Amino acid sequence: MSLETEQINELHWLMEMLHTIDVGLVVLDRDYHIQIWNGFMENHSGLLPREVKGKFLFDLFDEISQEWFVRKAESVFLLKNKAFTIWEQRSYLFRFQNYRPITGTADFMYQNTTFIPLMSATGEVTHLCLIVYDVTDMAVHKKELEKANKELAILSQTDGLTKLFNRTHWETCLQAEYKRWLRSQHASCLVMLDIDHFKSVNDTYGHMVGDEVIRHISGLIRKHVRETDISGRYGGEEFAILLADTTLENGKVFAERLRSAIEKSVVKYNDIDLKYTISLGIAEVNPSISNYETWIECADAALYMSKEAGRNRTTLYPNGARINDQP
Ligand code: GH3
Ligand code: MG
Ligand code: MG
Repeated sequence: MSLETEQINELHWLMEMLHTIDVGLVVLDRDYHIQIWNGFMENHSGLLPREVKGKFLFDLFDEISQEWFVRKAESVFLLKNKAFTIWEQRSYLFRFQNYRPITGTADFMYQNTTFIPLMSATGEVTHLCLIVYDVTDMAVHKKELEKANKELAILSQTDGLTKLFNRTHWETCLQAEYKRWLRSQHASCLVMLDIDHFKSVNDTYGHMVGDEVIRHISGLIRKHVRETDISGRYGGEEFAILLADTTLENGKVFAERLRSAIEKSVVKYNDIDLKYTISLGIAEVNPSISNYETWIECADAALYMSKEAGRNRTTLYPNGARINDQP
């Protein structure tokens, strides 16, 4: 085989390979007219090379923003450097359907694209090559992983029985609110509450009924709080609610409304009708409270006073002039 035939063969094979390779290859001239269109592009667009040859890219694919593309391509022409787009910035360049069975959840093919300057013999960049990679599998997996991580993060912050925040996460929120208060000095109240004589509920009706009562109270808490309030299950049958931007007076209105709603309600479990009450303590943050742990202690001390005074009541933490607000 002569050298010339060998070279022609090699060129022929190269052309064949470029046509069948599983990435998109497109060559554009200086005016964005399509010059080369390989098999990948043909298969996914449904347009034959002869149908696109010499056509203005933006006439055929209106999903490509001409302004954005030209800005990017012009820098490739001028600087003679490669450029890239990745699916995280722009999901795709060409909107192709996604046919893959495994990643069938995606409506379209996610793409990464490389822009390559093609030089003429004189060293001038006269054409631009686009290499389009199908990265749908990777994109879908990454998105699924992100979604799963988000769900996991929520799960790790949530109490299983009540779906309120668990103690760890709730304390993190309280700490953040305390820091926010140090800067803003906006009123902020902490309500701690505990179910009265809950041991006897368990002893009389069993733990299943006890759990039903805990679910019931968490439902009522959720119903009474505002979106900006932060409710958590602090312990077994103890709950803590952070009322942001709320004064002690308004905190008391909230607490009494919740207390009264619980006092009036009936928990039904099979043929059991059960009534229960709660005791509450409220502390408004103030300059004498030096950290969030002390804030909890203040609300807890008020809760203890409610228990001592006979239960089913709200006590405000003694706080300067407001000491007289106690019931
Ligand atoms: P007090 O009025 O003084 O609060 O009396 P109490 O009987 O409620 O006393 P305490 O608050 O100490 O009781 C807590 C009880 O709550 C003990 C425990 O058996 C029960 N408990 C804690 N967590 C759960 C739970 O998840 N489910 C059930 N069923 N019971 C729980
Ligand atoms: Mg209790
Ligand atoms: Mg308790």
